[in-house]
Amino acid sequence: MNLYNLVLEQFNSALEKVEHDCNVLRYLSEPKHEIITNFPVRMDSGEIEMFRGYRVQHNNTLGPYKGGIRFSLDVHLNEVKSLALWMTIKCALQDLPYGGAKGGVKIDPYKYSEEELMKISKGYVGSMIKYFGENKDIPAPDMGTNSKIMDWMVDAYQKKGKIHTNSVFTGKSLECGGSKGRTAATGFGVVECIKHWFWKKNINFSGKTYIIQGFGNVGSHTAILLSKLGMICIGVADHTRCLRSSEGFNVYKLNQHCKENRNLLGYEFGEEVDKKDFFSIECDIVIPAAKELVIGKDEAENMSCRMIAEAANGPVDREAEKILLEKGVDIIPDILANSGGVVVSYYEWLQNKRCEYWTEKEVLEKLTLKMKETFNKIYKDVEDKKISMRDACYIYSYKRIESIINKKCIF
Ligand code: NAD
Repeated sequence: MNLYNLVLEQFNSALEKVEHDCNVLRYLSEPKHEIITNFPVRMDSGEIEMFRGYRVQHNNTLGPYKGGIRFSLDVHLNEVKSLALWMTIKCALQDLPYGGAKGGVKIDPYKYSEEELMKISKGYVGSMIKYFGENKDIPAPDMGTNSKIMDWMVDAYQKKGKIHTNSVFTGKSLECGGSKGRTAATGFGVVECIKHWFWKKNINFSGKTYIIQGFGNVGSHTAILLSKLGMICIGVADHTRCLRSSEGFNVYKLNQHCKENRNLLGYEFGEEVDKKDFFSIECDIVIPAAKELVIGKDEAENMSCRMIAEAANGPVDREAEKILLEKGVDIIPDILANSGGVVVSYYEWLQNKRCEYWTEKEVLEKLTLKMKETFNKIYKDVEDKKISMRDACYIYSYKRIESIINKKCIF
C-alpha cells in the first residue's frame, strides 16, 4: 500500500465522522514544501559518492516545522511526506507550538565507517541549511540516526550558518545541549499510554505478556520500562530474525546484546520463528517498534492479542485495522503512542532557548503529566463519540489547526 494514501485515508475517514471545512482538509492534504537534494561526500577510499536527501515541511500553522531525520535504504518521498503529515497531527495533538516535517537520507547507516557517516550527516545539513532554523524547522533523530548524528549536524549548521545556536536540532547528546530524558522519551511515552489503557480497562498489568518488533531506541526503552511493571516479553524481532520464548526474555540482556551487535544475530536464547508468523504469537499486547506497514490483512487475521501499541509510525494498514477493530483489538495509534519523543524535544528546545538545564526528574514528571492529559482527553472522545482512538486523535488535531486557520484568515 502507498503510505501516503494510508495517511490520507486515515485522516479523511476520521473527519467523515465530524463537521469540518473541506477547504482546510484539502489544504492539509498536501505538504507545503518537498525538498530533494543530491550532495557529494568523499568516502574513505578517496572516491566521491552522491547521496540523496529529503526534507518535507508539511505544515507550520501552529509553529516552526518539527520532525526527525531518518537514515534508511527505504527512504523515499512518499514515506517522508507521510511521516511529515503525521508530525503535524502529533504536535497538534500534544498542544505543542510546532508544525510538522520529516527528513531522510537514502542510505544503509550500518554500511559506512564513522568518518563517512559524519561527512554524510554534515553534507545533508550543508545542502539543506537554508531550510533549517530554531524558529523555522527543527530536526531530531529518527530511525537510523541518534544523538551523535545530531551533534555532527549541529556543528555543520553552526559553522555554515555562522551562528551559535543549539536549539535548531533536538535529540543532541547532553554534552552538546541535549535534554535529560530525551533518549528514553519515546519509549517512556509508549509505556505511559499502555499503563493508561490498562487503568481504563481496570486490568492489572503485572504478568501480562507482549511481543515487540524493533529493538532499537524506541523498542529497547519500551521493553525495559515494561519489565519494571512486571510485564513479560515473549517475542522479539528485528530486521535480522524473529524469536519467541514462553518463559520470557531478559530484556536487559537483549538490550546489552543489541547495543554491542546492532541486531539480534547471535543472541542465544529463545526459539526461531518464521517472520510471517511473528505477529500471530498469542499475547496481551503487540508492539511494532520498527517500521511502517508491517501488519497487513494476513497478519491481522492471525493475530491474537488484546491491544496494539503503535510505537513505530504507520505499522498497521487500513485493511488490517478494520479486521482488528472488528475483532475487538484496541489500537493506541502512533500519533499518540510515540508522541513522547517530540514532547521532550520541545522541552529540549525550551531549555536551549532559555539557557536552562532541567533535571531528569523534572523532564519525566512533565512528560508523565502531558501523556496523561493527552491520553485522557482522547479516551474521553472515544467513549463519548464511540470512535476509535485513531479517529479521536485526528479529529482533535484537525480542529485545533482549523480554528487557527480560521482566526488568522490564512486563506
Ligand atoms: P532505531 O534505528 O533505533 O531502531 C529500529 C529497529 O527496527 C532496529 O531494531 C531494527 O533492527 C528494526 N528494523 C528495521 N527494519 C526492520 C524490518 N524491516 N523488520 C523488522 N525490524 C526492523 O529506530 P527508532 O528510533 O527506535 O525508531 C523506531 C520507530 O519509531 C520508527 O518507526 C520511528 O519513526 C519511530 N519513532 C521514533 C522516535 C524516536 O525518538 N527515535 C520518535 C517517534 C517515532
